[in-house]
Amino acid sequence: MDKEQTAIERLKIASEMSFDVYGKPLLITYSGGKDSDALLLLAERSGVPYEVNHSHTTVDAPPTVYHVREKFKSLEEKGIKCSIDYPYYKGKRTNMFDLIVQKKFPPTRFIRYCCRVLKEHSGDGRYICTGVRWAESRRRKDTRGIYEDFSSDKEKRIILTNDNDDTRRLTESCFKRKKMVCNPIIDWETSDVYDYLEESHVKLNPLYGMGFNRVGCVGCPMSPKHMNFDFSFFPKYRDLYVKAFDKMLIARREAGLTESYSSIPWESGEDVMRWWLDMDYAQLTFDDIEKDEL
Ligand code: SF4
Repeated sequence: MDKEQTAIERLKIASEMSFDVYGKPLLITYSGGKDSDALLLLAERSGVPYEVNHSHTTVDAPPTVYHVREKFKSLEEKGIKCSIDYPYYKGKRTNMFDLIVQKKFPPTRFIRYCCRVLKEHSGDGRYICTGVRWAESRRRKDTRGIYEDFSSDKEKRIILTNDNDDTRRLTESCFKRKKMVCNPIIDWETSDVYDYLEESHVKLNPLYGMGFNRVGCVGCPMSPKHMNFDFSFFPKYRDLYVKAFDKMLIARREAGLTESYSSIPWESGEDVMRWWLDMDYAQLTFDDIEKDEL
């Protein structure tokens, strides 16, 4: 079976489980990147009922915001239900910059509170499909599967990495799972995704044409090497981060947090930005920092 057919079969199995467990259609998560465009095309070709959801991170690049809007408009014209989730923290609408001040620390590669608040809240109580692929990182290769059960009890989580595994195991339990996930293109290479979209004449997010090889949050600390690249295209975001770091320093002083974690004392937002863009900080973990409300 070719990769398209295998992915479609996975979507059909997931659709069945979605109705069995939640009584609702699949929820396709759409980021505006190439992988989720491939996933949408597969969902359309599979013939299964589905809805589409986008998590607005508040630091998406403007071309991504327009690409998502355009895509949702065309999906809605075909009768597909689309929704956008906006982030909340402690019961109030929030954004990346506000969150940095509230957390009193910049997000880092190992301190990813922003993902938890801005991205990972969607899809609870639903069966979701994502464009996650093993080829994206070693971590994904080690931790992600074709079918995943995100039971709140870690011991009861099930990750299936093989199409021959017994997928019915995921629906055996009679109680409703917190979240179930299918990653239909998990074994696709990057070239498979580009070829598939090109053959089908799917319009890509314009960021790819500008030299970006990933579509995500502007200034994401998960890709320290790309932060300066992001800011060279979107300098206003850099300004917003510096302003947030200025406010963060005030919040830190008020809380008695004085450590700078570098040879340059954190006296201004620009000092923090310089530290943030330095690759060394990326190694910092939760255990290294003064405990505040992280
Ligand atoms: S900036 Fe990076 S770590 Fe933070 S929410 Fe976005 S993707 Fe996640």
